[in-house]
Amino acid sequence: MTLKNFKENLENYARLITEIGVNVQKGHTIVVQISVDQAELARLITKKAYELGAAEVSVQWTDDFVQREFLAFAADDRLETIPQHKVDQTEDWIAKGASRISVVSSNPDALAGIDHQRVATYQAASGKALLNLRKATQANKVSWTVVAAAGQDWAQKVFPDLSPEDAQDKLWDEIFKTTRIYENDPVAAWKAHDEKLQKKADELNKEQFTALHYTAPGTDIIIGLPKNHLWEGAGSYNARNEKFMANMPTEEVFTAPDSRRVDGYISSTKPLSYAGTIISGMKFTFKDGKVVDFSAEQGQEVLKNLLETDEGATRLGEVALVPDPSPISQSGITFFNTLFDENASNHLALGSAYAFSIQGGTEMNEEELKEAGLNRSQTHVDFMVGSDQMDIDGIREDGSTVPIFRNGDWA
Ligand code: ZN
Ligand code: ZN
Repeated sequence: MTLKNFKENLENYARLITEIGVNVQKGHTIVVQISVDQAELARLITKKAYELGAAEVSVQWTDDFVQREFLAFAADDRLETIPQHKVDQTEDWIAKGASRISVVSSNPDALAGIDHQRVATYQAASGKALLNLRKATQANKVSWTVVAAAGQDWAQKVFPDLSPEDAQDKLWDEIFKTTRIYENDPVAAWKAHDEKLQKKADELNKEQFTALHYTAPGTDIIIGLPKNHLWEGAGSYNARNEKFMANMPTEEVFTAPDSRRVDGYISSTKPLSYAGTIISGMKFTFKDGKVVDFSAEQGQEVLKNLLETDEGATRLGEVALVPDPSPISQSGITFFNTLFDENASNHLALGSAYAFSIQGGTEMNEEELKEAGLNRSQTHVDFMVGSDQMDIDGIREDGSTVPIFRNGDWA
């Protein structure tokens, strides 16, 4: 690593992840999911978390190579069945209210060429086995944060013209930039950023639009919003009322759509990395909330598998507003990683809605959430639709409209 002050910046990054990301408090259990390639960061996170009083830091190592071999060659029944001890482990984490840190660094093409059906089978099985963990996370019962680290293969995918070493340096540089690590006090900078986004969310919450109308080249769609929906900025609160930051970087203000009231067509504006492959040039037509027609220039087969995950996979579970002038968008870089690319652009998600996106939602059961219009699914996949040509209007109960976005920025 030749990047200037890399060690010092990585330490600040670990501090940000533990203090702001999951907001480690005395007695907390911390679960870190991280690649073996990022051992240095894993150790720094572990050290910081114990310094902040963590009761236990459990590092769950991942490895793209091992995972790829598993998906390619493991016996069919191992793809279909997640071992009970893994399910028990997640139950233990839930019981302890463990905070989850996920560090993403994978090559977006890591699974390219592997039989889609095998990947889909495994994803469905783990989606089902880890449902309680997903629910606890999506309902913000526990603190969780998704952050990035510059994996070598990923860096080369993003910067194919640079040498492997320069590419990795450049990706770390972008990660540090977009997570405000170069600011004098990154923790204070995040608090200010959080307040700014919260103000936008508060304004939208007061309006309580009944629907949003998106127009752009290849897009003309009306997306209903459920009664008592809640827009949220960067910061969230867990069941113990402790603040955490679910994504770093983040530039979005988001809520849940009414999964029964989406009508029109919409086109994606950035490639999506899903299940280890790239899907790009997507077009969807919605009727009564359901995808009734779709196509993709690349990755059509993978998109089809995604939509066939379950009924909820054909409906929307998130609507997020990100101004096109956001720093990530202005970098002009396609990261092939949703954590970054979704923060460059207005986006939507196919699949499950977050229970906290509606008043009282975290206390509702699955049926009540569905009744309120919040989509239920085993999956949640963001795709990017924003551009500097996108306009969005808010539609009020009385039919009058209010401009929210003009030319990709807040109106
Ligand atoms: Zn989002
Ligand atoms: Zn999302």
